[in-house]
Amino acid sequence: MTRSHRQNTIRLISDRPVARTDARQETWELTREFGRDVFTDDVMKRLLPDEAYRDLRRTIDTGSALNATTADGVANAMRAWAQERGATHYTHWFQPMTGLTAEKHDSFLELSGGKAIIRFDGSQLVQGEPDASSFPSGGIRQTFEARGYTAWDPSSPAFLRRDARGCTLCIPTAFCSYTGEALDEKTPLMRSGEALQRQAVRNAHLLGHEDVLRVTTTIGCEQEYFLLDKQFYVQRPDIVNAGRTLFGASPLKGQELDDHYFGAIRKRVMAFMEDVDRELWRLGVPAKTRHNEVAPSQFELAPIFEASNVAVDHNMLTMEVLRNVADQHGFACLLHEKPYAGVNGSGKHVNWSVACPSRGNLLDPGHTPQDNISFLYHLAAVIAGVDAHAPLMRASIAHSGNDHRLGANEAPPAIMSVYLGDQLTAVVEAIIAGDSLTDSHDGIMRLGVDALPPLTKDPTDRNRTSPFAFTGNKFEFRAAGSSQSAAVVGTVLSTVVADSLEQMGDLLVQKLASGMVHSEAVFETIQTTLAKHHRVIFKGDGYSDDWLKEAERRGLPNLRATPDALPAWVSQDAIDLFSRHSVLSERELRARHEVACEKYNTHLAIEGRTSSHLVRTQILPAIMAFQRRAGDAIVSSRAAGLDDSALVAQKALLSRLSDLYNAITERCDAMEAGMEKAAAFDHAHEASKTYQLEVLNRQVELREVVDQAELLVEDRLWPLPKYHEMLVIY
Ligand code: ADP
Ligand code: MG
Repeated sequence: MTRSHRQNTIRLISDRPVARTDARQETWELTREFGRDVFTDDVMKRLLPDEAYRDLRRTIDTGSALNATTADGVANAMRAWAQERGATHYTHWFQPMTGLTAEKHDSFLELSGGKAIIRFDGSQLVQGEPDASSFPSGGIRQTFEARGYTAWDPSSPAFLRRDARGCTLCIPTAFCSYTGEALDEKTPLMRSGEALQRQAVRNAHLLGHEDVLRVTTTIGCEQEYFLLDKQFYVQRPDIVNAGRTLFGASPLKGQELDDHYFGAIRKRVMAFMEDVDRELWRLGVPAKTRHNEVAPSQFELAPIFEASNVAVDHNMLTMEVLRNVADQHGFACLLHEKPYAGVNGSGKHVNWSVACPSRGNLLDPGHTPQDNISFLYHLAAVIAGVDAHAPLMRASIAHSGNDHRLGANEAPPAIMSVYLGDQLTAVVEAIIAGDSLTDSHDGIMRLGVDALPPLTKDPTDRNRTSPFAFTGNKFEFRAAGSSQSAAVVGTVLSTVVADSLEQMGDLLVQKLASGMVHSEAVFETIQTTLAKHHRVIFKGDGYSDDWLKEAERRGLPNLRATPDALPAWVSQDAIDLFSRHSVLSERELRARHEVACEKYNTHLAIEGRTSSHLVRTQILPAIMAFQRRAGDAIVSSRAAGLDDSALVAQKALLSRLSDLYNAITERCDAMEAGMEKAAAFDHAHEASKTYQLEVLNRQVELREVVDQAELLVEDRLWPLPKYHEMLVIY
């Protein structure tokens, strides 16, 4: 038996894609290419009659309904624009609760008297009706009303996706049931944005900022990923099916030398990154940074932040482009949170802030006392939201892949806490204590009711161990997993902050009604809010055991794994919160919970089946083959006259192999028995959770002995590519 991937590696080195030629580089110009495949505001302005453009703009800006004539006009312009660029099809592009994107293509073709004509009108643009019976609905959609509706979201621009022979016009849409319930990730995100806007505008007016009429949230997603040679990828059924390695001994060289992070990017990877950037730029995705990450063959891409709704769509597109371009370059792009045990996992840092056209970023400390007060007010609202609804924050990032990463001394723990940096923590403490901070350590902060001189920003003041950190003018939610949709995080964040703003607004109204001076009432509102919720602020080492104890003492929940976190979706707190702000009804929440439980169980079941298949059909036979070789060697040595005393090591090896063979078989049996038990229960059932966790533990035990065998069995007999091969890019 030979190891085919070895040969493949050799072939791959000679076949690998060559970097682009200079001629092509010279003709490429960023500003000209950026957004080239997007039906941008500029394009609309150019192609639409003035009145239609104004109508559409109003719809985009205020969410008002689009009239049928305008919709027809827009559809016509959009179709002509797309067709000119080679599009033959359009699709409503949406984000069902699978966490992925979905599309069904329709061509522009219609037949009229047997002749081909082109048709695409307003009704086709605005609403679609995909046969959606196979998307998860968590019981919302009965099969007899299996229709789902997709509705155009004009706030996220349509774009062209290029394929081998032409391109498809992709229209970002929301996806809901016949009865109007959200079946996707975009709808709740947009509703939560409205909820936040309602409360933020009300509070801005209470603060005296009458000019604030619109408030939006912004998101910038730092996307981490691994690249793996495709030749290795296809030989790892665990990565293909489960997204991660279920077996694999530690690499000979890991990340200990810290020689990968921010290191020079290898030419072959660079060629891939250049193509990714170009494709993203054409799609109007503002890709900004690219670099090597901590683990070998791990990388990161971050865009310039945008309005949340667009940023989420763009992140979904980014993940898609990363996968496709990787494929063209002979790589597989792994977006799983933990493709390799013992090596850093991948996150998606969701940078989040609140902005309004008239006052800019509301989480920017600003330069005037007025700005500072507004900043502290919104800061308090975020802190309060995260503390009051920590289980929901945790649930928003709960997913089987992320469980392998959170709390693994490389990623934040599952305990939700807020990091503010030293200076801001001191300000918060001073506010709570009611002190005036005068000329504090750096001589800059003086805190009083009326006057809050500028705070200094300290960009180096960062705590990588915190799941939720304030980084100068935004919060960075670092617990999100690399494969997850940022929509869920965005929805929860906007809703919890809307809720704390509502409460702060009520408190402020009360204080003002009691005759309190405005500035004092505002200050006291901030103070009361911070005093109630400051337990969530933590600036120490989030990886330490002390923090686990300290967090418990503070009463902060530690929901370790997905099954512990998911029930938060159907807690009374969630039901009240989301319905109060019209973001998700109880029925929608229950559906989401059901879908998440099912997804979790299905992932685990796939991992179990894949482990068992690999063990039974590849790993045990490999051990047996080596046993045979070892046995043959002993027999032939004896035949050649060697005494048994000269064969002690060989016999020890044989018996060690035999022990491992037995141990692996036993543990695989145990895992399979657990899988059977788990499969007998409903997804959301308590017993299912217990058994799934048991299966997970048994898989870990099975892996232990398999990985020992990997280190013992003759290299060319081992059927799977090894870590030290996969983690290196030639
Ligand atoms: P770092 O790795 O140091 O955290 P990066 O530059 O890689 O920094 O990523 C920071 C991300 O935060 C970028 O995507 C950036 O656009 C985003 N960001 C910056 N300001 C805001 C904001 N106001 N709202 C949302 N995201 C923001
Ligand atoms: Mg970051």
